[in-house]
Amino acid sequence: MCHRELRLWKARQCGHLTCTADTNVDCGQSDCYNSAAHPPDCPPASCRCRRYFTQPERIVTHEADAKCPRCQ
Ligand SMILES: [Zn+2]
Ligand SMILES: [Zn+2]
Ligand SMILES: [Zn+2]
Repeated sequence: MCHRELRLWKARQCGHLTCTADTNVDCGQSDCYNSAAHPPDCPPASCRCRRYFTQPERIVTHEADAKCPRCQ
């Protein structure tokens, strides 16, 4: 399933997560409307392919012994 991937780092001094990157992950399945693998000739009027995105995946890349930009 296509979804977004959020990369975050954690500020230890305030405990907040800060997003640094937001990428789309393509599932590569032809029955998924959101994927680049979805056939362009699948007619929109009759397309029954999946159209929804799942919840974004949150990946904490690192922790820093600091405050987040909002709390500085
Ligand atoms: Zn997909
Ligand atoms: Zn379709
Ligand atoms: Zn903070």
